[in-house]
This record gives sequence, structure tokens and C-alpha cells, in this order.
Amino acid sequence: MAVRRVIVFVLLLWVVSMAAHAAPILDAGDDEIRLTDFPVGYLIDNSQSLTYQEVREKTYNTMNSKGTLGTGASVTWHRIALKNPGLEKKVLFLHLPAAFQVRAIEIYQERSQGLVGRAEIDLNDASGNPLMHRGTIVYPFTVPAGETTIFYIRSNLYSHQWFEAEIYDDKHSRQALVGGHLDIALMVGMMLALVFYNGLLYFATSKKENMLYSFYLISGVVWIALSYGLLAKAFNIYGDGVFILNLSVFTMPFFLVLFMMVIFETREFYVTEHRILNGLLALLVAGFCYGLFDIEGALIPASSLAALMMVVTFSVSLSILRKGHPLAKFFLVGHSFFVVFNGFAVLFYKGLIEPNYLNSHGVGIGIVLEAITLAFIISYRIKVLEDIRAQQDELKRQAATDPLTQLYNRRYFMAEAKSMAERATVLGQPLSVIALDIDHFKSVNDTYGHHAGDLVLKAVADNLQKFSRAKDLIARFGGEEFMILLPGADHSEAESCAERIREGVENHAVQAGDDVSIRVTVSLGVAQVSSATESVEDAANRADKALYAAKTGGRNRVCSAA
Ligand code: GH3
Ligand code: MG
Ligand code: MG
Repeated sequence: MAVRRVIVFVLLLWVVSMAAHAAPILDAGDDEIRLTDFPVGYLIDNSQSLTYQEVREKTYNTMNSKGTLGTGASVTWHRIALKNPGLEKKVLFLHLPAAFQVRAIEIYQERSQGLVGRAEIDLNDASGNPLMHRGTIVYPFTVPAGETTIFYIRSNLYSHQWFEAEIYDDKHSRQALVGGHLDIALMVGMMLALVFYNGLLYFATSKKENMLYSFYLISGVVWIALSYGLLAKAFNIYGDGVFILNLSVFTMPFFLVLFMMVIFETREFYVTEHRILNGLLALLVAGFCYGLFDIEGALIPASSLAALMMVVTFSVSLSILRKGHPLAKFFLVGHSFFVVFNGFAVLFYKGLIEPNYLNSHGVGIGIVLEAITLAFIISYRIKVLEDIRAQQDELKRQAATDPLTQLYNRRYFMAEAKSMAERATVLGQPLSVIALDIDHFKSVNDTYGHHAGDLVLKAVADNLQKFSRAKDLIARFGGEEFMILLPGADHSEAESCAERIREGVENHAVQAGDDVSIRVTVSLGVAQVSSATESVEDAANRADKALYAAKTGGRNRVCSAA
């Protein structure tokens, strides 16, 4: 225990001594200079009015050459001291790769004899500045042999700050400017592909969620490209004009919440959750509107709003999961990625944790991982909706057909007959109807049993299909009576069709057991629908009368209506 206490004490002493001293003097004695990770001094100027002469006299705290001071700092000074212990003059380059995020930067370079260099870059007017290289400020300087040079860098920031300084020789300076941002480009590319794909899905399905998801992705892409410097690097743009694009921190969660409302159908099924989400939407809209006029001001509470947003959306989806929504668990998985990585990012932006790649890129990583999971939800929902549609189609089919023969039933026949009659009238084509009844069917049941009777009914139905045309509408009207509607067939064509059926049934033996073979005959009545003046129903009645005539005339025959 004692040993541990001593170690902690020594560590504390070391931390305190680090903070109290000015930043150490860097050694630029090597042949190859490539300094990317070193301590620098910093000073937050709350008055925002300190001059170079004044800050020279101040004491500096120490931070890393890559780091954040949170949202509190608005003007900061950084102090970097560099010694050249060698015997030759060194030509070097100070890089400020995070310069694209700030409003203005001033660089003061001094050596023992005083100020030897000075640069002032207003990011609103920097695209033509020779020191500006696609978002990175590159300041060339020399350090004579044996001398030390000190930089005072004043950054005037928008909101949270991310400071980065690097020192290179000529070769490494060139290399540093060429590479970089491949990771960000990959994130952006992936999300743009999802935007494109969901746009296509929207055109195919007209589902609102695809559109909302696309807007959410676009907001995310804008934020990532802006905050991680891709816009600066690719388009050489900075300053107030692009800073307003930070409004995407409000639109992104706005569309995510709308997306949640649609996929969970909160308005219909989760009223309490719906109200809570609506409250969140109101906050986001308020933040957005405020940001239109004062984006810097709006961004100050943005990370707190983000934290609130994460807690609320997470609890809401948890509650929906507990109420049994099948998609909630996938949403939670995706959202967990977002929450965890954004949680780190919030800590990073508030300057509460040591920066590293994961927390400084937390929002981007969280967005990309969540976006991928949400894409899965969308495809899952398409599958669910397809299943529902297939079920509905099956129900419709069942409602329209007779379960024994799989022919249409009377209700479907009458409904369909109406539109077929209209079509026939429009096209000026004939339309005929055949009524059919099995002869002495009662005795089939009586002799062979009801099951055998069913087999005969099925066999007759098969024969009806076999000897009619594909476009004919065949229905079982009830018991052992059938009706066929023949579009495009006049009376004589319908008669010959009826005759084909009669003959087909007569010649067909139904196997109803090993030694049981049943033969039946049918009687048929034919009528052509009198164009325009007669309904199919009336024609069917006439066909029925003709069928009755066929029965009384001796059965197993076709009779025509008058
Ligand atoms: P007709 O030649 O005059 O038409 O004599 P029929 O015996 O065929 O006429 P009837 O209408 O008297 O008998 C019809 C029989 O059809 C009565 C009924 O038991 C039988 N039936 C009705 N629906 C079904 C069914 O779904 N399955 C079976 N097996 N029999 C049925
Ligand atoms: Mg009968
Ligand atoms: Mg009958």
C-alpha cells in the first residue's frame, strides 16, 4: 500500500510540475525533422484583447501539440520553443492542420534579437493566402545554428477548439500535405452510397422512412466532411460561410427522431414516447432556428443537447423494445454505437478526456456505424412489409376462391363479370355464359359416399379448366353447379365450348379408391349476353333456364337459351 501511495504522490508531483513550467524547448538537431507529438504551452485569453507583447510575459500551461481546450476557450495563445543545437542553419515549416476550423490565426516568431516573423490569416479571406494549403497553414521559418526560436500563435476560435501543430523539414512538409483524410473520405463515401441507395428505395417504395434516413445521412455527411476538414481539403473553403454548415448537428438528430417515429409508428402505438420525441424535436428546431442567426452561440449547448438527445432516444427505444416492437432491438444496437462513440466525442469536445483518434472522430465513427445498422432496419422493414402484403394477397385469394375446387366463388365471379362486361362493350366484342350442373349427383353421394362426391366435383372442375380457354372466368356457384363467362365468344363459340366440356366430362372416369371408378355426365345451358342492354346476371339466368331444359330434355346435353 505504502509503495502505491508513494507512486501516486510522485506522479502528482510530476503532473503539477509539468503544468507549472513553460513548455520545454524542442530539439531540432536531427537531420530529419518530423515533430508531430510534443508538449506546447497554452494560455486562454478570456479578455480576447491581450497583445503579443503582453502574452510574452505570461506563464503558460502545458498541453499536447494535438489537443482540445473544450468549448470554453475563445481566444487562445500557444507557445512553441525550438532550439537548433547543430552547426548549420535549419529551414523548417510550422504546420497548423486544424486551421480550417478557426476564424483567424496570428503567428509571431521571435529569436533572441526579437520579433523576426509575423503572419496574420483571416480564414474568411484565406483561399488566396500563400500560407494556406487546403485547410492547413504552413509557415516557413529558419533557425540559425545554435539559436532558439519561439512561436506565439494566437487562435481566434468559433466554438470548441482543436489545436494541432507540427514541425517538419522540407521533405516531410511536402509529404504531410499530400496525404491524409483517406479515413474521412471513406466514411463520407460509404454514407453517400447509402444516401444514393435510399433515394432509389424511396422512388421504388415511396416510404417516408427512406427519405428521412437519407436526410439524416446527408446531415451526417455534411457534419463529418466539415468537422474533419474534408471540405477544406477538397474545396479549399473555410470561414463563416462554411461554419454555418454546423447547423447539421441539429438536422441530423432531427431526421433521426422523425425516422424513429415512422419506423416505430409512435403516433399510433406509443403515445407517451411520441410526446417525448416531439419535445426533443421542438428543442432541435429551436436550436436550429437560433443557429441560423448565431451558429456559434447555438453550438455552445450543442454537446449538452446531444447528450440529452442520446439519453432520450435511447430510453425511448428501450421502452419500445420492452413493449415488444421487433425492430427496436436493431435500432438499439445501432444507436448504442452512436451513443458510445458520441459519448466519447462529447467528453472530447468538452476537453474532459485525453484526445485520441476514437474520441476526436467519435461522432463520425458513431454516425457511420449507426447508419449501417439503420440500413439493416430498413431492409428488415421492407421484408416485413412484403410479408404483410403477401398475407393480404393470400387472404384476398382465399376470399375469392372455393376451397374444394380452387375455382372462383360466386361473389368474385359476379364482381369480375361486371368489369369484363364493360370491357366487352367498349371493345364491341361478344360475351357468353355457360351454366353447368352435374347429373344425378345426389346418387353419386348416396352410392359412393360424400368423399367420393368431392373427388368428382374436383374432377369436373379440372375438366372445366381443361376444356375452356385461359381467359375464361370459371366459378363454382354452389353445390354441383358451375358458371363460365367467355369473353370474346359469341353464342355458337360458347356452344361448341360447352359441347367440348360435356364430352370431356363424359369420357373422364374418376378414380375414387382402388376398384372404384365413377363416371358422371353434366347438363349445360348457353346464353350470349345481349350487348349493352343485358347484364351478365340476366344472361346467367337465361343460361340457367336453358340448363333446366337440358335436364328435362334427358340430361348430358347442351341447350341454348332463347
Ligand atoms: P340433377 O341431375 O337434377 O341435378 O340431380 P342431382 O342429384 O344432381 O341434384 P340435387 O340438387 O338434388 O343434388 C345435389 C346434391 O349435391 C345434393 C348435395 O348433397 C350434393 N352436394 C352439394 N354440395 C356438395 C359438396 O360439396 N360435396 C358433395 N360430396 N356433395 C355435395
Ligand atoms: Mg345436379
Ligand atoms: Mg343442382
